[in-house]
Order: sequence, then C-alpha cells, then structure tokens
Amino acid sequence: MSAPERRSGIGYDSHRFGGEGPLMLAGVEIPGAPALEGHSDADVVAHAVTDALLGAAGLGDIGEHFPDDDPRFRDADSIGLLGEARRAVGEPGWRVVNVDVSVLAERPRLGPHKRPMAERLASALGVDAGAVNVKAKTNEGMGFVGRGEGIAVLAVAQIERPG
Ligand code: MG
Repeated sequence: MSAPERRSGIGYDSHRFGGEGPLMLAGVEIPGAPALEGHSDADVVAHAVTDALLGAAGLGDIGEHFPDDDPRFRDADSIGLLGEARRAVGEPGWRVVNVDVSVLAERPRLGPHKRPMAERLASALGVDAGAVNVKAKTNEGMGFVGRGEGIAVLAVAQIERPG
C-alpha cells in the first residue's frame, strides 16, 4: 500500500462592517459586535475555510459552488455551506487532516470566542476539535482592518486520501 496522498489549500476572505443582525464568525454569534455586510450571513471565517478546503481538493472556489447572485444563497447559513463543501471534497475520497485560521480584526476582541469557533468549524468538517486552530490578531492600526472597516481571514486546510 502506498503512502496517503496529501494536499493543502489556502483561503482568504474579507467583509466590511455594516450588515444587519448579529456578527457571525465560524457559525458562532459574537454578541455586542457590529455585523458584517454580505449576500449570505457574511461569515467571513466560514467563507475562507470553505475556499481553503475546495482549493486543497482542486475543486475551484466558493463563488463557483455557491454563487452570490443565486437567490438560494441569500442569507445562507455559511457554516452549512462549509458542510456541503466538505461533502463535495469527500466524494473523491478526501478527508480533512487539519485547518488553521488567522482572523484579522481590530474589533471586536475575539480571544474568548476562538475555542467555540474552532469547535464549530471542527463539527462542520467532521474532525476532532484538536484538528482546527483559530488565531486572532489586530492589524496594528494599518489598512482597512486597522481602521476598523471590516474583518479579513486567512485559512489553510490540509486533506488526505489513501494512496
Ligand atoms: Mg465572503
């Protein structure tokens, strides 16, 4: 039996503040924070992780799978879309090894929310909570994140299938 095949993918997303309703990050509602703007629930973390996962499997990007001009995805639950992406990636036999996320936000403070976010992502991805890591940092006052205009997220996903 040959060694398992492993691949990795990168994901990036950003959304500006100004939406309606609660701030949703990785499927977790962050109380007392301004919402992000977007066609779906604007879950910038779920979107970046979805792109990392699709990228690892060579399956394009989130916009091809869930077009933002498609009324089916208006106000969509993005953590649910991540679950759909995981199923698409599982079709050709891939399983998630690990996911690492950096959330760039001047506000709100995300320290207390990192663990619940990692757990929610892990459950959508069908992996142990230890396979998902969420980090949060400010942008030291620089650029659109630093000015508090929005949130940006970087994500990396590694997947594997039997050789
Ligand atoms: Mg997005």
